[in-house]
Amino acid sequence: MPSFGKTSIQRLETCHKDLQTICNEVIKYYDFSVIEGYRTLEMQQKYFKDGKSKLDGINQKSKHQSLPSLAVDVAPYPIDFKNEHKAKARFYHLAGYMFMASEILYKEKKITHKLRWGGDWDIDNYFNDQSFDDLPHFELVKV
Ligand SMILES: [Zn+2]
Repeated sequence: MPSFGKTSIQRLETCHKDLQTICNEVIKYYDFSVIEGYRTLEMQQKYFKDGKSKLDGINQKSKHQSLPSLAVDVAPYPIDFKNEHKAKARFYHLAGYMFMASEILYKEKKITHKLRWGGDWDIDNYFNDQSFDDLPHFELVKV
């Protein structure tokens, strides 16, 4: 059974309890790493400048900026960020696990939020109707 490394655990601890519950369930079945939880304003501004985020951190805040963080960035392990079809496909694969787990945990009343994913911002299960993909990104939404 896969398990989180020390760094992933530390990053996950900065996240909302629901994100912790979801990730701690998925890791039992699928090996992945937590790349980021809570994010400082300084880091958010850097990502904005680098084009990795659409949010400037001040006028538009990221869900990573609250503490606990309402967003988590995750990647299948071993991590491969190549911009190539089959490398990217692994993120879609992981997303399936994340959503399955969150649906079950929500139904069991173990979490109180649902997930929104950076691969499907409008949550319609179509991935070709968006121009900005943030495949590692999952955030909590109120139901
Ligand atoms: Zn993110």
